[in-house]
Amino acid sequence: MKYLGNKVGNGLAIGKVYIINTKIPRIEKKSLSNEEEITKEKESLKLVLNEVVRDYEKLGQEAKEDEIKDLCNFYKILLNSNSLITSMEEEITREKCDKLTAITKVMKTKQEELSLVDNAYLRERSKDIEDVTNKLLRKTLGMKEIDLKTLTEDTILVAESIPPSVLLSNHLSHVKGIISEIGGKTSHVAILAGTLGIPAVFGIKEISKILTNGELIYINGNEGYIETNLTNTRITEIKEKLKKEELLKESLLDMKDKSSTTKDNKKLLVSANAGELSELDKLLELNCDGIGLFRTEFLFLNRNVAPEEDYLFNVYKAFAEKMKDKQLIIRTLDIGGDKKCSYLDINNEQNPFLGYRAIRYCLNNKEFFKVSLRAILRASHYGNVMIMYPFVSSLEEIRKANEILNEAKIELASNNIPFNKNIKVGIMIEIPSAAIMANMLIDEVDFFSIGTNDLIQYTVAVDRLNPTVSNLYSFYNPGVIKLIKNTIDSVKNKKGKFVGMCGEMATDPLSIILLVGLGLEEFSVNASMVLKVKKLISLIDSNEAKKIANKVLTLKTSKEIEEYLDNKARIIYGKYY
Ligand code: PEP
Ligand code: MG
Repeated sequence: MKYLGNKVGNGLAIGKVYIINTKIPRIEKKSLSNEEEITKEKESLKLVLNEVVRDYEKLGQEAKEDEIKDLCNFYKILLNSNSLITSMEEEITREKCDKLTAITKVMKTKQEELSLVDNAYLRERSKDIEDVTNKLLRKTLGMKEIDLKTLTEDTILVAESIPPSVLLSNHLSHVKGIISEIGGKTSHVAILAGTLGIPAVFGIKEISKILTNGELIYINGNEGYIETNLTNTRITEIKEKLKKEELLKESLLDMKDKSSTTKDNKKLLVSANAGELSELDKLLELNCDGIGLFRTEFLFLNRNVAPEEDYLFNVYKAFAEKMKDKQLIIRTLDIGGDKKCSYLDINNEQNPFLGYRAIRYCLNNKEFFKVSLRAILRASHYGNVMIMYPFVSSLEEIRKANEILNEAKIELASNNIPFNKNIKVGIMIEIPSAAIMANMLIDEVDFFSIGTNDLIQYTVAVDRLNPTVSNLYSFYNPGVIKLIKNTIDSVKNKKGKFVGMCGEMATDPLSIILLVGLGLEEFSVNASMVLKVKKLISLIDSNEAKKIANKVLTLKTSKEIEEYLDNKARIIYGKYY
């Protein structure tokens, strides 16, 4: 059985399920009756705080990774802060309550305060407060800590929500994967999993109730799914796949210094998809050809008010400066659908994926849109920045967006704020109407980036998050391929214009052969896939790929196409596939 979730990345693994119960029992408030009890409660509060500080100190000292040392240090500073301790003590005195109640209340206030701060780093930390709170409560209640020391076999941790502190443990050698019902790619635990290279899939509903402890499962963090009920044949297949993946990984390290070219030396671009400032250093290390998709919505999510122009500008500027002359494609806000923002006036809709979202919302909220546009324009002074509009379904939308962009330019110019007056503007091709009339839209813009995640969803009418119909969601659907071909063809012979792909299809080994053959110029993929895609491209001869693509265009079913490409991939990629 296959369960789809959100891919958090970091590869593949097979292992036995270990379900972590992170639930804290409901805490009833206890009233203290006299001064003596209050003093005692405050003293035992200090003992708990000291113990937890010591635990973090030890974890920090033993940790090898800087991120983990930093996180432990942050927790330590937080728990040692006089204001926090005083607030808890005051709460006990004022309310005559027990320490559990005081800890819960004060930590909740702290979390709310941080979630409002206009600083991405601190805001991200607000989520960690919950983790510290739970640790304090578990300690107070005398609950056992999650003990990974006792693991003796390859294990996949499963929980409703994996607390980041679990990954602070030094006993992760047997932890081969993590699965969580909630949490996104930008959650702290996802970032830590990335640092530690642990495959992760999040967002599979009820999975901690579906799986049982000890059952063997397969986790594919790159594609975002897990598989259960593995037969012996399937286990052998998976193990074979893991071996190849390992081989490929080893061969990837030297790809950092090589340019992205096909076997016959055709230069292509392999860029990265990004969305958070914290990813920047990692991306620079990869030496990718640029950022093909900066998902700005991550800067708008998990907060109570919209970010200010200066804040956005500073994030974009940091990327632009570090990327130097490499292209940085910043997508304007792609909110709505599954990405909800509590402070925007988007009502609950019956079909949010077909509703009021992305460019549609921005065009209706001109001043709000202009804040983002000005931030991008200002950053364009510091690097090779381009603007990309998402979810475009018509030519009018591009024209309207460009009119607002012009107003933003005029505003900046009249205030003598520098920006690139010739900034390139592109659109995502992720709605079938846009792909069909690509030859008309290309005259309005400088580039296209094909968003296959949505393009496939809308072309075959399959909710990309619904596992029940996921069998129909295929990169190899002939209809989808025709739309991609149409999009790529419409850019051919248009001087100075280019076409890329930032959807997940650009990471699929079979599709990469087809896409090189169709003439795609830029592959923008998740950071963890950049070197792999570069490697695979280096094994493809573009002329041979063209012939393969021509053949694919004559095939009539997804199955035939997949089988045909699979056969070709075995020859082209050899031991790497
Ligand atoms: C896409 O739709 O392919 C895409 C890259 O955008 P997102 O996944 O953010 O919708
Ligand atoms: Mg999309």
